[in-house]
Amino acid sequence: MKVNKAEIVISAVAEAQYPGDNLPEVVLLGRSNVGKSTFVNTLIERRSLARTSQQPGKTQTMNFYQINDLFRFVDMPGYGYAKASKSERDKWGKMIEKYLRQRENVVMIFQLIDSRHEPSEDDFLMYEWLTYYELNPVIIGTKADKISRTNQKKSMNQIAKTLNLKNSREVILFSSETKLGKEESWKLIESVLK
Ligand code: GDP
Repeated sequence: MKVNKAEIVISAVAEAQYPGDNLPEVVLLGRSNVGKSTFVNTLIERRSLARTSQQPGKTQTMNFYQINDLFRFVDMPGYGYAKASKSERDKWGKMIEKYLRQRENVVMIFQLIDSRHEPSEDDFLMYEWLTYYELNPVIIGTKADKISRTNQKKSMNQIAKTLNLKNSREVILFSSETKLGKEESWKLIESVLK
C-alpha cells in the first residue's frame, strides 16, 4: 500500500478516548521493546511516526495511527513492562482485554515476538488467551536481521513449537533493516481491508 497520509489520532489512556468511527483497526501486541513501533514505522515508511522505545519517557498508552484515512494501526502498551507497578499492569491488562474482546473495529491482530529468543511466558500466555477467544493473531518474529539465516529457520521452528502452531510457516520473520516480511505483512492487512 502506498501511504500518503499517516497521523497519530490519539494516545489513549481510557476507553472514552478511542475514536468513535468504524474504521478498521490492525492491532500490535507484544512485550515492550519487541519492535511494535518500528514495525509500524517500517510498513508506512516514516522514520518516526510511531514513537520507539529509545526515546526517553515513552509512556504506556494505546496509540492510534490513522493511515490514508482507510484504517488504523493500534500500538498497544507492551505487556511484561518491568517498570510499571502491579496496579498499573492490572489496569492495562483489563483495558487491553476489553478492547480486544469488544471493539468491533478490530480486523487483524499482529502478535510480535523477538526472533532472537524463545517466546517468553508472557508471549505464550498472550497467545493462549487470544486463541481461546478466537482472536487468532498473526505471529511476527521481529529483529530477524540480528540472527543468521540458519538461526532464522531455527527461530521460526522454536516459536511454532512453543506456541503449538501447526506449522512454522505461520511465523512471519520481520526486519526493519532488511525489510524482510514487509510485503507479506502488507498483503495480509490489505486482504482484510477489502
Ligand atoms: P516497542 O517497545 O515494541 O514499540 O519497540 P520499538 O519499536 O521501540 O523497538 C525497540 C528497539 O528495538 C529499538 O531500539 C529499535 O530500533 C529496535 N528494533 C526494532 N525492530 C528492529 C529490527 O527489525 N531490527 C533491528 N536491528 N532493531 C530493531
